[in-house]
Amino acid sequence: MSSLLNFIAGKWVASHSENVRPVHNPASAEVLATVALSSAAETHAAIESAHNAFAEWRRVPLTERVQFLFRLKARLEEDFEELSKTITLECGKTLAESRGEMRRAIENVEVACSASVLTQGLFSEDIAAGIDEFTIRQPLGVCAIIAPFNFPGMIPFWFLPYALVAGNAVVLKPSERVPLTMAHVFRILEELRFPAGVVSLVNGGREAVDALLDDERVQAVSFVGSSATARYVYARAAAAGKRVQCQGGAKNPIVIAADAHLDSTTQVVADSAFGCAGQRCLAASMAVLVGDARAPFRDSLRQAAANRLTGFGLDAVQMGPVISADSKTRIQGLIETAEQEGARVTVDGRNASIRGFEGGYFLKPTVLEGLPLDSNVARTEIFGPVLSLHEVDDLDQALAIINQGQYGNMACLFTSSGDLARRFRSEADVGNVGINVGVAAPMAMFPFSGARGSFFGDLHGQGRDAFQFFTKQKVVVERWPRAVSRLF
Ligand code: NAD
Repeated sequence: MSSLLNFIAGKWVASHSENVRPVHNPASAEVLATVALSSAAETHAAIESAHNAFAEWRRVPLTERVQFLFRLKARLEEDFEELSKTITLECGKTLAESRGEMRRAIENVEVACSASVLTQGLFSEDIAAGIDEFTIRQPLGVCAIIAPFNFPGMIPFWFLPYALVAGNAVVLKPSERVPLTMAHVFRILEELRFPAGVVSLVNGGREAVDALLDDERVQAVSFVGSSATARYVYARAAAAGKRVQCQGGAKNPIVIAADAHLDSTTQVVADSAFGCAGQRCLAASMAVLVGDARAPFRDSLRQAAANRLTGFGLDAVQMGPVISADSKTRIQGLIETAEQEGARVTVDGRNASIRGFEGGYFLKPTVLEGLPLDSNVARTEIFGPVLSLHEVDDLDQALAIINQGQYGNMACLFTSSGDLARRFRSEADVGNVGINVGVAAPMAMFPFSGARGSFFGDLHGQGRDAFQFFTKQKVVVERWPRAVSRLF
């Protein structure tokens, strides 16, 4: 069985940490590899190498830096299937979901290839008498990326290609629960021969994160994970004077109006709630049925939940396991708490067992009804295949549910009415809005947004925001006294 290595200063090195943990296939509980949680000293070594590499890398012309991304895109395409299978093996999602995730990762490389346009500065000639003024976008230095477990292939790419092409050096720490996908990506990066230290991989947990947050050579931190950790990372990195962007957790309401199309809406909402076993930050968590939508959608969503085929992600199934035994126990505990708080479990996916995968961490889709809006579970991110149904009289009540929640990652509306849709997109106080779309995941040329308890910072990952985040602006005000020149 392989023990995963770090990639530091252009070389694969073993961590000396005795804090070693297994990486499981969540469908079978089989141990796929082991990963050592790197020490602060090992993380500092990666930062040191990045710091040293930065001075030269930033001077490599942009037109040459972008060539690395063109080659990266080609190599990711070549290894697309293998990478997708690795995601399914370590994370549990279906192969189709893993392919979708890798497609979005590659799309981010493609968008980052537009750096030569999107990092241009501005120029104003004669802005005052004899004065020209312009901006230059320059790289920041060493940038840290800290990723969550649920998209091992995609989420690092919200940041990585933009940071590198803009001239920064990067230290990436994947989730210790799913380190295999980034190990593969770094074997590709090694082949591409980035100068040593420009891009490093440090496997680890809290100790490695704290080292990245505290080291003064790290200029910027991009984090994605739960809101509790996001708040912690944001506060600690900002206190150390860094530029920080932290995407956090979610509790996403989907509003269904009476004029929504029954079959297509049911399918899309079920995919949103139960796809990736509900472990998406854009998973539908609450379905809010408005007026006459109540009866038909109550029935159709129950049915869609009960019929969803669950199993090993490399087989022909619609939903895989959750990430760990702890996660399964936590989610089942929340379903019990919901019952104690007044909910009825109308589709019960607890204690699921899949033939041939009896050791896996499976839960089947679960539907809660009658859960009071002021209950703990109605305000808690479950991060599993659990959808609660709520009933309201009109759009105002639905918007109140959205805007009073502590999170603000996504809200969606299903309707045939343009008027309702316009009001909804304007008044829902969230970062990502879906209209007749159940997972409003922005494509790579748009920022992956988020608001309130779901995002801490200003600029997001992906697209123009990422270029702005990974560059600082310098303003030059320039005057040249008129030469009484004999040259002309
Ligand atoms: P997590 O917060 O447990 O871990 C995220 C990262 O932080 C990992 O690399 C982990 O090693 C590190 N970490 C964990 N605890 C830490 C601590 N106490 N101190 C320092 N570092 C720590 O998140 P997760 O369980 O891996 O991911 C799931 C969460 O991520 C969910 O809440 C989900 O909603 C959220 N998420 C959000 C988005 C978004 O765009 N808003 C996208 C994906 C996932």
